[in-house]
Amino acid sequence: MKDPHLVLGVLEGDDIGHEVVPASVQVASAAAEQHGLRIQWKPMPVGRRALDTHGATLPAGTLETLATYDGFVLGPIGHREYPKVPGAINPHPIMRKHFNLFANVRPTRSYPDIGCLRDDVDLVIVRENNEGFQPDRNVVAGSGEFRPSEDMTISVRVITRKGSDRVARVALALARSRRKKLTVVHKNTVFKLGCGMFVEECLKAAKDFPDVEVNEVIVDTMAMRLVRDPHNFDVVVTTNMFGDILTDEAAGLVGGLGMAPGLCIGDGDFAMAQATHGSAPDIAGQGKANPYAMVDSTRMLLDWLGRRKNIPQAVAAAGSMERGLTAALADAKARTGDIRGQGNTESFTRAVIGNL
Ligand code: ATP
Repeated sequence: MKDPHLVLGVLEGDDIGHEVVPASVQVASAAAEQHGLRIQWKPMPVGRRALDTHGATLPAGTLETLATYDGFVLGPIGHREYPKVPGAINPHPIMRKHFNLFANVRPTRSYPDIGCLRDDVDLVIVRENNEGFQPDRNVVAGSGEFRPSEDMTISVRVITRKGSDRVARVALALARSRRKKLTVVHKNTVFKLGCGMFVEECLKAAKDFPDVEVNEVIVDTMAMRLVRDPHNFDVVVTTNMFGDILTDEAAGLVGGLGMAPGLCIGDGDFAMAQATHGSAPDIAGQGKANPYAMVDSTRMLLDWLGRRKNIPQAVAAAGSMERGLTAALADAKARTGDIRGQGNTESFTRAVIGNL
């Protein structure tokens, strides 16, 4: 019998991260205790506060220390507000790349009474995390964007067979555990080589998952269909930037960014819980932030680690968190204003813990 024990880094990030990450730790700790799971939380500085205290938004040694843990919770990063000084970098793409967390698994689900535009959404978008158009992660040196002359900029998009195959396999395995439907989203009508390669690799990988029904949708059609018939989608796999945009759109259908969790995973037994939303500086420090997305990301982390490492107590703790979250969402007095509630970060967190 395995020691029911996890060691997890806690990196609050910026702005509302200082509110929603502690909420996530409180909820996960309570659920873990209920099921006899020991979690050792390891707080580590990151972001603006780390710049002030350690001279860098990603202090030296952070990645090496995190590598000795089972995984970590990363709060939202407000890098756009960082001063333009050396050491003030956006840490999360570096983390995704360093730990080879190539798949960003982002579920979207409707809940009653919280202001969802559709009541029939239950899908997961698997976004490729480390390639694509994102210029800070598609090259090993320099940037994937450059300006040969004053009035011309060139942005490079990277698609590889390996990168496409591995994210497709994550999505196919997930589809197998759900309603067995995978939609590959792309624009191979225009990006004949790039999206063409992505689709080819997805279809090749799908041959190993004959029980999963696979179809393809062009990204602009997908943007429309997400609004019109989201119930027809189960698991969606797509390239980095399309995934970035579609996951925000999907969040908009179900109450906004506070309802958009995510888990970054790779081939190993190591994962990073990271909500889809940014650091929302406009509402930081006011107790208004909806902790659902961050708490649910942490729930996904426990569930995934529990399954990968065969720790049933972690899976059970995640199950309790899901029950607590669902009950708290149904409590208008407890839930936050962005989802038609009269409560705040603290009341929602208390309601989740009270309903584990
Ligand atoms: P990024 O590009 O870093 O993802 P963004 O531009 O998408 O950031 P966010 O910081 O995610 O912007 O916030 C957009 C708006 O959504 C915020 O101004 C805030 O009002 C709202 N928002 C985001 N997250 C939450 C949350 N957890 N709870 C309540 N409102 C939120």
